[in-house]
Amino acid sequence: MSEESATWRVTQPPGAARKRTCRHLERARPVTAVAEGCSRCLAPGGSWVNLLACLECGAVGCCDSSPGRHAYEHFAVTGHPLARTLKAGEAWGWCYADAVFLEQG
Ligand SMILES: [Zn+2]
Ligand SMILES: [Zn+2]
Ligand SMILES: [Zn+2]
Repeated sequence: MSEESATWRVTQPPGAARKRTCRHLERARPVTAVAEGCSRCLAPGGSWVNLLACLECGAVGCCDSSPGRHAYEHFAVTGHPLARTLKAGEAWGWCYADAVFLEQG
């Protein structure tokens, strides 16, 4: 069995004056998203804009543009700062603690 790579690095915005860093990258694991939607929004009437999956435990929550902001809530409750988008065709991640974007590589 080969081990799936879960290597992330901080995205450096072009022209940034200071190098962005994240102290949590070694906590990222090749997790599988545990739900098809935000478990906190699945009640009737719930809606979200985009979904994020926690890179430590796979918990799925809605993004900061969504009314519930449950991905942020997951960080606030568990202290898991890393999440990746579940949007098809996109592969970015985000660290809530450092407020930096992440990319795979
Ligand atoms: Zn970080
Ligand atoms: Zn988590
Ligand atoms: Zn939600």
